[in-house]
Amino acid sequence: MRFRKSFKSPVKESLKKILSKHLQYNNITNIDFEQYLIIAEYCIIKCQANIFSNTELKTFFQSEHVANMSQTQLDKASYILQLFSDWKHDKRSEKCRGIATFCNYCNNLATLIDSKIIYGSSKGNIYLCSNYPSCNAYVGVHKGDNWPLGTLAVYYGPILPPIMVQSSHPS
Ligand SMILES: [Zn+2]
Repeated sequence: MRFRKSFKSPVKESLKKILSKHLQYNNITNIDFEQYLIIAEYCIIKCQANIFSNTELKTFFQSEHVANMSQTQLDKASYILQLFSDWKHDKRSEKCRGIATFCNYCNNLATLIDSKIIYGSSKGNIYLCSNYPSCNAYVGVHKGDNWPLGTLAVYYGPILPPIMVQSSHPS
């Protein structure tokens, strides 16, 4: 499945306001806000995830709404719904420490690791295929939540110049 964008609506506008304020209040920046909104919209508007009750949120993650989600999408949805739940219960939120990310070449889980291993010096975190160095696919991350910038890309050489990093959301 894919999280899809839909048309503007008053409910979507209020989700946007809540999310934007809550992120600002918790100093969570350098994230893909548009993607957060799409996920919030899908879970809260389309699937009616109940952010008021933690028990009902648990039920949501056992429901058919999430049956077609990948582990990566589930991790993203859990984080976004936690943000709304925290907002509802007047609690602070922490930045996301990372999500399950898989190599699209060999299907292994990727490890969140300092980019020093590839670049020789640190340029922030990357998801590196756990099959490294047999498979040297990796991808950079958004600094604010450690979500991957796109899918893992392979480089057939020892050290990758930063310009070669493939990204669907350059930041
Ligand atoms: Zn791999």
